[in-house]
Amino acid sequence: MKLIDPIIQFHNEIQAIRREIHAHPELCFEEHDTAELVAKKLTEWGIPVVRGLGVTGVVGILKNGNSQRAIGLRADMDALPILELNTFAHASKNKGKMHACGHDGHTAMLLGAAHYLSQNKNFDGTIYLIFQPAEEGGGGAKRMMDEGLFEKFPMEAVFGMHNWPGIPVGHFGVTPGPMMASSNEFEVVVTGKGAHAAQPHKGIDPIMVAVQIAQSWQTIITRNKSPIDAAALSITQIHAGSTTNVIPDDATLVGTVRTFDLKVLDLIESRMRAIAEHTAEAFDARVSFHFKRNYPPLINHAKETAFAVEVLQGIVGAEHVDAQVEPTMGAEDFAFMLQGKPGCYVFIGNGEGDHRSAGHGLGPCNLHNPSYDFNDDLLPIGATYWVRLAENFLKN
Ligand SMILES: [Zn+2]
Ligand SMILES: [Zn+2]
Repeated sequence: MKLIDPIIQFHNEIQAIRREIHAHPELCFEEHDTAELVAKKLTEWGIPVVRGLGVTGVVGILKNGNSQRAIGLRADMDALPILELNTFAHASKNKGKMHACGHDGHTAMLLGAAHYLSQNKNFDGTIYLIFQPAEEGGGGAKRMMDEGLFEKFPMEAVFGMHNWPGIPVGHFGVTPGPMMASSNEFEVVVTGKGAHAAQPHKGIDPIMVAVQIAQSWQTIITRNKSPIDAAALSITQIHAGSTTNVIPDDATLVGTVRTFDLKVLDLIESRMRAIAEHTAEAFDARVSFHFKRNYPPLINHAKETAFAVEVLQGIVGAEHVDAQVEPTMGAEDFAFMLQGKPGCYVFIGNGEGDHRSAGHGLGPCNLHNPSYDFNDDLLPIGATYWVRLAENFLKN
Protein backbone atom coordinates (compact mmCIF):
# COMPACT_ATOMS: atom_id res chain seq x y z
CA MET A 1 0.00 0.00 0.00
CA LYS A 2 1.29 3.43 -0.91
CA LEU A 3 0.06 5.45 2.03
CA ILE A 4 1.14 9.03 2.60
CA ASP A 5 3.86 9.14 5.21
CA PRO A 6 2.86 12.33 7.08
CA ILE A 7 -0.67 10.90 7.33
CA ILE A 8 0.72 7.73 8.93
CA GLN A 9 2.67 9.94 11.36
CA PHE A 10 -0.62 11.72 12.16
CA HIS A 11 -2.50 8.45 12.83
CA ASN A 12 -2.65 8.85 16.61
CA GLU A 13 -4.22 12.26 16.34
CA ILE A 14 -6.80 11.18 13.76
CA GLN A 15 -7.58 8.14 15.90
CA ALA A 16 -8.03 10.35 18.99
CA ILE A 17 -10.48 12.53 17.02
CA ARG A 18 -12.34 9.44 15.76
CA ARG A 19 -12.69 8.05 19.28
CA GLU A 20 -13.73 11.42 20.70
CA ILE A 21 -16.54 11.57 18.13
CA HIS A 22 -17.44 7.91 18.78
CA ALA A 23 -17.79 8.62 22.51
CA HIS A 24 -20.13 11.57 21.87
CA PRO A 25 -22.61 10.44 19.20
CA GLU A 26 -25.34 12.83 18.06
CA LEU A 27 -28.46 12.07 15.99
CA CYS A 28 -29.81 13.65 12.78
CA PHE A 29 -29.52 17.46 12.69
CA GLU A 30 -28.31 17.49 16.32
CA GLU A 31 -24.61 17.15 15.46
CA HIS A 32 -23.72 20.40 17.28
CA ASP A 33 -20.68 19.18 19.25
CA THR A 34 -19.41 17.14 16.31
CA ALA A 35 -19.73 20.12 13.96
CA GLU A 36 -18.00 22.29 16.56
CA LEU A 37 -15.11 19.83 16.77
CA VAL A 38 -14.81 19.64 12.97
CA ALA A 39 -14.90 23.43 12.58
CA LYS A 40 -12.38 23.88 15.40
CA LYS A 41 -9.88 21.47 13.86
CA LEU A 42 -10.23 22.94 10.35
CA THR A 43 -9.79 26.46 11.72
CA GLU A 44 -6.78 25.37 13.77
CA TRP A 45 -5.21 24.10 10.53
CA GLY A 46 -5.89 27.40 8.74
CA ILE A 47 -8.83 26.18 6.64
CA PRO A 48 -11.71 28.67 6.26
CA VAL A 49 -15.05 27.23 7.30
CA VAL A 50 -18.70 27.92 6.46
CA ARG A 51 -21.20 26.57 8.98
CA GLY A 52 -24.93 26.09 9.32
CA LEU A 53 -25.81 24.65 5.90
CA GLY A 54 -28.37 21.95 6.72
CA VAL A 55 -28.50 23.09 10.37
CA THR A 56 -25.19 21.57 11.50
CA GLY A 57 -23.33 21.08 8.19
CA VAL A 58 -19.75 22.28 7.88
CA VAL A 59 -17.89 23.10 4.67
CA GLY A 60 -14.12 23.63 4.73
CA ILE A 61 -12.60 25.55 1.82
CA LEU A 62 -9.06 24.73 0.69
CA LYS A 63 -7.81 26.90 -2.14
CA ASN A 64 -4.48 26.92 -3.96
CA GLY A 65 -3.25 28.47 -7.21
CA ASN A 66 -5.39 30.22 -9.83
CA SER A 67 -7.48 27.45 -11.31
CA GLN A 68 -11.27 27.80 -11.13
CA ARG A 69 -11.62 24.02 -10.95
CA ALA A 70 -13.10 22.52 -7.80
CA ILE A 71 -13.89 19.14 -6.25
CA GLY A 72 -16.11 18.18 -3.30
CA LEU A 73 -15.24 15.48 -0.76
CA ARG A 74 -18.07 14.45 1.52
CA ALA A 75 -18.25 12.80 4.94
CA ASP A 76 -21.27 12.26 7.18
CA MET A 77 -21.36 13.06 10.92
CA ASP A 78 -24.51 11.58 12.48
CA ALA A 79 -25.07 8.56 14.72
CA LEU A 80 -27.95 6.13 15.32
CA PRO A 81 -30.50 5.64 18.11
CA ILE A 82 -28.89 2.37 19.28
CA LEU A 83 -27.77 1.39 22.79
CA GLU A 84 -24.07 0.59 22.41
CA LEU A 85 -22.95 -2.79 23.84
CA ASN A 86 -19.22 -2.07 23.63
CA THR A 87 -17.46 -1.35 26.91
CA PHE A 88 -14.12 0.01 25.69
CA ALA A 89 -12.96 3.44 26.81
CA HIS A 90 -14.35 5.30 23.78
CA ALA A 91 -17.83 3.69 23.97
CA SER A 92 -20.79 6.05 23.75
CA LYS A 93 -21.29 8.42 26.65
CA ASN A 94 -24.68 9.48 25.22
CA LYS A 95 -26.88 6.59 26.31
CA GLY A 96 -29.11 5.23 23.55
CA LYS A 97 -27.06 6.89 20.80
CA MET A 98 -24.24 5.21 18.96
CA HIS A 99 -21.87 5.55 16.02
CA ALA A 100 -22.88 2.16 14.64
CA CYS A 101 -22.43 3.10 10.98
CA GLY A 102 -18.87 4.44 11.23
CA HIS A 103 -19.67 8.06 10.42
CA ASP A 104 -17.22 8.91 13.24
CA GLY A 105 -14.52 7.28 11.08
CA HIS A 106 -15.73 8.99 7.90
CA THR A 107 -15.47 12.38 9.58
CA ALA A 108 -12.03 11.54 10.99
CA MET A 109 -10.69 10.31 7.61
CA LEU A 110 -11.74 13.53 5.90
CA LEU A 111 -10.19 15.56 8.73
CA GLY A 112 -6.97 13.55 8.33
CA ALA A 113 -6.92 14.46 4.64
CA ALA A 114 -7.72 18.10 5.43
CA HIS A 115 -4.78 18.34 7.84
CA TYR A 116 -2.34 16.99 5.25
CA LEU A 117 -3.74 19.10 2.42
CA SER A 118 -3.54 22.27 4.52
CA GLN A 119 0.22 21.71 4.82
CA ASN A 120 0.92 20.18 1.39
CA LYS A 121 -0.86 22.10 -1.34
CA ASN A 122 0.06 19.99 -4.36
CA PHE A 123 -3.03 21.00 -6.28
CA ASP A 124 -4.36 23.90 -8.31
CA GLY A 125 -7.98 24.83 -7.56
CA THR A 126 -10.42 24.39 -4.68
CA ILE A 127 -11.20 21.42 -2.48
CA TYR A 128 -14.51 21.64 -0.64
CA LEU A 129 -14.57 19.47 2.47
CA ILE A 130 -18.23 18.68 3.07
CA PHE A 131 -19.27 17.43 6.51
CA GLN A 132 -22.97 16.67 6.29
CA PRO A 133 -25.58 15.98 8.98
CA ALA A 134 -28.40 13.46 9.08
CA GLU A 135 -27.47 10.70 6.65
CA GLU A 136 -29.45 8.17 8.71
CA GLY A 137 -32.93 8.89 7.38
CA GLY A 138 -32.85 12.67 7.70
CA GLY A 139 -31.71 13.45 4.17
CA GLY A 140 -29.00 15.86 5.35
CA ALA A 141 -27.34 15.83 1.92
CA LYS A 142 -30.56 17.00 0.30
CA ARG A 143 -31.01 19.66 2.97
CA MET A 144 -27.51 21.06 2.32
CA MET A 145 -28.28 21.09 -1.42
CA ASP A 146 -31.65 22.81 -0.86
CA GLU A 147 -29.78 25.46 1.12
CA GLY A 148 -27.38 26.11 -1.77
CA LEU A 149 -24.43 23.74 -1.35
CA PHE A 150 -23.63 23.53 -5.07
CA GLU A 151 -24.44 27.21 -5.77
CA LYS A 152 -22.38 28.61 -2.89
CA PHE A 153 -19.56 26.15 -3.54
CA PRO A 154 -19.51 25.46 -7.29
CA MET A 155 -17.74 22.16 -7.88
CA GLU A 156 -17.29 19.94 -10.91
CA ALA A 157 -17.72 16.66 -9.13
CA VAL A 158 -18.39 15.25 -5.68
CA PHE A 159 -17.11 12.07 -4.06
CA GLY A 160 -18.23 9.96 -1.09
CA MET A 161 -16.94 6.93 0.84
CA HIS A 162 -18.44 4.44 3.30
CA ASN A 163 -16.72 1.76 5.35
CA TRP A 164 -17.96 -1.73 4.50
CA PRO A 165 -17.68 -4.66 6.94
CA GLY A 166 -16.87 -7.89 5.11
CA ILE A 167 -14.56 -6.24 2.57
CA PRO A 168 -10.97 -6.80 3.82
CA VAL A 169 -8.92 -3.88 5.14
CA GLY A 170 -6.84 -2.38 2.34
CA HIS A 171 -9.46 -3.33 -0.25
CA PHE A 172 -12.05 -1.13 -1.93
CA GLY A 173 -15.30 -1.88 -3.72
CA VAL A 174 -17.03 0.31 -6.29
CA THR A 175 -19.04 -0.01 -9.46
CA PRO A 176 -20.24 2.38 -12.16
CA GLY A 177 -24.02 2.80 -12.34
CA PRO A 178 -26.36 1.79 -9.53
CA MET A 179 -24.53 0.79 -6.34
CA MET A 180 -27.21 1.34 -3.69
CA ALA A 181 -30.98 1.23 -3.92
CA SER A 182 -33.78 3.74 -3.68
CA SER A 183 -35.50 3.42 -0.33
CA ASN A 184 -39.24 3.92 -0.03
CA GLU A 185 -41.87 3.12 2.55
CA PHE A 186 -45.59 2.46 2.37
CA GLU A 187 -48.55 2.30 4.70
CA VAL A 188 -51.86 0.98 3.44
CA VAL A 189 -54.96 0.96 5.61
CA VAL A 190 -57.87 -1.26 4.58
CA THR A 191 -61.18 -0.26 6.11
CA GLY A 192 -63.95 -2.85 6.21
CA LYS A 193 -66.79 -3.21 8.65
CA GLY A 194 -66.36 -4.75 12.10
CA ALA A 195 -68.62 -7.60 13.18
CA HIS A 196 -69.00 -10.49 15.61
CA ALA A 197 -66.51 -13.14 14.55
CA ALA A 198 -69.35 -15.71 14.58
CA GLN A 199 -71.38 -13.53 12.18
CA PRO A 200 -68.85 -12.65 9.46
CA HIS A 201 -71.64 -12.21 6.92
CA LYS A 202 -72.73 -9.06 8.78
CA GLY A 203 -69.37 -7.34 8.31
CA ILE A 204 -66.63 -6.72 5.76
CA ASP A 205 -63.47 -8.47 6.92
CA PRO A 206 -60.46 -6.16 6.36
CA ILE A 207 -58.03 -8.96 7.29
CA MET A 208 -59.01 -11.07 4.27
CA VAL A 209 -58.65 -8.02 2.04
CA ALA A 210 -55.22 -7.21 3.49
CA VAL A 211 -54.07 -10.80 2.96
CA GLN A 212 -55.25 -10.74 -0.68
CA ILE A 213 -53.42 -7.48 -1.27
CA ALA A 214 -50.23 -8.79 0.35
CA GLN A 215 -50.26 -11.93 -1.84
CA SER A 216 -51.10 -10.09 -5.04
CA TRP A 217 -48.37 -7.49 -4.50
CA GLN A 218 -45.74 -10.21 -4.78
CA THR A 219 -46.84 -10.79 -8.37
CA ILE A 220 -45.63 -7.27 -9.20
CA ILE A 221 -42.10 -8.50 -8.55
CA THR A 222 -42.53 -11.76 -10.49
CA ARG A 223 -45.08 -10.82 -13.21
CA ASN A 224 -44.96 -7.07 -13.87
CA LYS A 225 -41.39 -5.85 -13.71
CA SER A 226 -38.79 -7.30 -16.04
CA PRO A 227 -36.85 -10.20 -14.50
CA ILE A 228 -33.68 -8.29 -15.40
CA ASP A 229 -34.54 -5.39 -13.08
CA ALA A 230 -33.74 -5.78 -9.39
CA ALA A 231 -36.34 -4.86 -6.79
CA ALA A 232 -37.44 -5.83 -3.29
CA LEU A 233 -40.96 -5.43 -1.93
CA SER A 234 -41.14 -6.40 1.75
CA ILE A 235 -44.22 -6.16 3.91
CA THR A 236 -42.74 -5.77 7.37
CA GLN A 237 -45.87 -5.23 9.48
CA ILE A 238 -49.51 -6.31 9.31
CA HIS A 239 -51.66 -4.94 12.09
CA ALA A 240 -55.31 -5.82 12.67
CA GLY A 241 -57.64 -6.77 15.47
CA SER A 242 -57.21 -7.22 19.19
CA THR A 243 -59.14 -10.32 20.27
CA THR A 244 -60.46 -13.74 19.17
CA ASN A 245 -64.15 -13.05 18.63
CA VAL A 246 -64.22 -9.69 16.85
CA ILE A 247 -63.68 -8.93 13.18
CA PRO A 248 -61.95 -5.54 13.31
CA ASP A 249 -62.84 -2.44 11.31
CA ASP A 250 -59.46 -2.08 9.65
CA ALA A 251 -56.11 -3.65 8.83
CA THR A 252 -52.80 -1.96 8.10
CA LEU A 253 -49.93 -3.09 5.86
CA VAL A 254 -46.52 -1.44 6.26
CA GLY A 255 -43.20 -2.07 4.53
CA THR A 256 -40.49 -0.99 2.15
CA VAL A 257 -39.73 -1.05 -1.57
CA ARG A 258 -36.17 -0.95 -2.94
CA THR A 259 -35.10 -0.48 -6.57
CA PHE A 260 -32.04 0.64 -8.51
CA ASP A 261 -34.12 2.44 -11.11
CA LEU A 262 -36.79 5.13 -10.76
CA LYS A 263 -38.82 3.80 -13.72
CA VAL A 264 -39.05 0.42 -12.01
CA LEU A 265 -40.08 2.22 -8.86
CA ASP A 266 -42.82 4.12 -10.74
CA LEU A 267 -44.14 0.83 -12.07
CA ILE A 268 -44.12 -0.88 -8.65
CA GLU A 269 -45.80 2.03 -6.90
CA SER A 270 -48.58 2.33 -9.48
CA ARG A 271 -49.22 -1.44 -9.54
CA MET A 272 -49.31 -1.54 -5.72
CA ARG A 273 -51.87 1.24 -5.68
CA ALA A 274 -54.04 -0.35 -8.39
CA ILE A 275 -54.00 -3.77 -6.71
CA ALA A 276 -54.80 -2.30 -3.29
CA GLU A 277 -57.65 -0.14 -4.58
CA HIS A 278 -59.23 -2.73 -6.86
CA THR A 279 -58.89 -5.56 -4.36
CA ALA A 280 -60.58 -3.42 -1.71
CA GLU A 281 -63.31 -2.54 -4.19
CA ALA A 282 -63.88 -6.19 -5.03
CA PHE A 283 -64.56 -6.90 -1.36
CA ASP A 284 -66.60 -3.75 -0.73
CA ALA A 285 -63.89 -2.33 1.50
CA ARG A 286 -62.05 0.98 1.25
CA VAL A 287 -58.35 1.63 1.18
CA SER A 288 -56.03 4.54 1.88
CA PHE A 289 -52.68 4.26 0.15
CA HIS A 290 -49.56 6.14 1.29
CA PHE A 291 -46.25 5.71 -0.48
CA LYS A 292 -43.24 7.79 0.56
CA ARG A 293 -40.02 8.05 -1.44
CA ASN A 294 -37.07 8.56 0.90
CA TYR A 295 -33.71 8.25 -0.88
CA PRO A 296 -33.23 7.81 -4.63
CA PRO A 297 -30.92 5.06 -5.96
CA LEU A 298 -27.23 5.85 -5.66
CA ILE A 299 -25.87 5.90 -9.21
CA ASN A 300 -22.16 6.33 -9.79
CA HIS A 301 -21.13 8.28 -12.87
CA ALA A 302 -18.95 6.29 -15.29
CA LYS A 303 -16.17 8.81 -15.88
CA GLU A 304 -15.71 9.77 -12.22
CA THR A 305 -15.86 6.10 -11.21
CA ALA A 306 -13.11 5.19 -13.67
CA PHE A 307 -11.08 8.07 -12.24
CA ALA A 308 -11.65 6.94 -8.63
CA VAL A 309 -10.71 3.35 -9.53
CA GLU A 310 -7.45 4.55 -11.08
CA VAL A 311 -6.62 6.55 -7.94
CA LEU A 312 -7.46 3.58 -5.69
CA GLN A 313 -5.38 1.20 -7.80
CA GLY A 314 -2.43 3.56 -7.39
CA ILE A 315 -2.76 3.31 -3.60
CA VAL A 316 -3.70 -0.31 -2.83
CA GLY A 317 -2.92 -2.06 -6.14
CA ALA A 318 -5.32 -3.19 -8.86
CA GLU A 319 -5.84 -6.60 -7.23
CA HIS A 320 -7.31 -4.93 -4.14
CA VAL A 321 -9.90 -2.84 -5.95
CA ASP A 322 -13.12 -4.60 -6.89
CA ALA A 323 -14.28 -2.26 -9.66
CA GLN A 324 -17.52 -4.19 -10.15
CA VAL A 325 -18.62 -4.72 -6.58
CA GLU A 326 -22.06 -6.24 -6.11
CA PRO A 327 -24.59 -3.45 -5.47
CA THR A 328 -26.53 -3.48 -2.19
CA MET A 329 -30.22 -2.83 -1.53
CA GLY A 330 -29.23 -0.54 1.34
CA ALA A 331 -29.72 3.19 0.75
CA GLU A 332 -27.58 6.29 1.20
CA ASP A 333 -28.45 9.97 0.89
CA PHE A 334 -25.23 10.75 -1.02
CA ALA A 335 -27.48 9.59 -3.89
CA PHE A 336 -29.00 13.11 -3.88
CA MET A 337 -25.57 14.68 -4.39
CA LEU A 338 -24.95 12.35 -7.34
CA GLN A 339 -28.22 13.59 -8.87
CA GLY A 340 -26.87 17.15 -8.65
CA LYS A 341 -23.25 16.58 -9.69
CA PRO A 342 -21.17 13.89 -11.37
CA GLY A 343 -19.24 11.81 -8.90
CA CYS A 344 -18.53 8.48 -7.31
CA TYR A 345 -19.10 6.70 -4.02
CA VAL A 346 -16.82 3.89 -2.87
CA PHE A 347 -16.81 1.22 -0.17
CA ILE A 348 -13.64 1.03 1.94
CA GLY A 349 -13.15 -2.41 3.52
CA ASN A 350 -13.72 -2.42 7.30
CA GLY A 351 -12.60 -6.07 7.62
CA GLU A 352 -14.36 -8.96 9.36
CA GLY A 353 -14.19 -7.47 12.83
CA ASP A 354 -10.80 -8.83 13.94
CA HIS A 355 -9.82 -5.30 14.98
CA ARG A 356 -12.16 -5.73 17.88
CA SER A 357 -10.41 -6.88 21.02
CA ALA A 358 -11.41 -6.76 24.69
CA GLY A 359 -14.21 -4.42 25.59
CA HIS A 360 -16.33 -5.04 22.52
CA GLY A 361 -19.87 -6.33 22.84
CA LEU A 362 -20.95 -9.73 21.65
CA GLY A 363 -22.21 -10.00 18.11
CA PRO A 364 -21.03 -9.32 14.60
CA CYS A 365 -19.25 -6.18 13.51
CA ASN A 366 -21.96 -5.24 11.03
CA LEU A 367 -23.22 -1.75 10.32
CA HIS A 368 -26.09 -0.75 12.64
CA ASN A 369 -25.14 -3.52 15.10
CA PRO A 370 -24.76 -2.56 18.80
CA SER A 371 -21.26 -4.08 18.93
CA TYR A 372 -19.98 -2.49 15.72
CA ASP A 373 -16.86 -0.34 15.78
CA PHE A 374 -15.11 1.54 12.99
CA ASN A 375 -11.70 0.02 12.26
CA ASP A 376 -9.01 2.61 13.04
CA ASP A 377 -6.61 0.89 10.62
CA LEU A 378 -8.65 2.49 7.83
CA LEU A 379 -7.93 6.05 8.90
CA PRO A 380 -4.68 6.52 6.93
CA ILE A 381 -6.02 4.48 3.98
CA GLY A 382 -9.17 6.55 3.61
CA ALA A 383 -7.32 9.83 4.23
CA THR A 384 -4.72 8.91 1.58
CA TYR A 385 -7.51 8.16 -0.90
CA TRP A 386 -9.08 11.60 -0.31
CA VAL A 387 -5.74 13.34 -0.75
CA ARG A 388 -4.71 11.49 -3.93
CA LEU A 389 -8.19 11.86 -5.39
CA ALA A 390 -8.16 15.65 -4.89
CA GLU A 391 -4.54 16.08 -5.99
CA ASN A 392 -5.06 14.09 -9.19
CA PHE A 393 -8.36 15.80 -9.94
CA LEU A 394 -6.80 19.25 -9.54
CA LYS A 395 -3.42 18.47 -11.07
CA ASN A 396 -1.44 21.62 -11.78
ZN1 LIG B 1 -26.14 3.70 8.47
ZN1 LIG C 1 -23.65 5.06 7.11
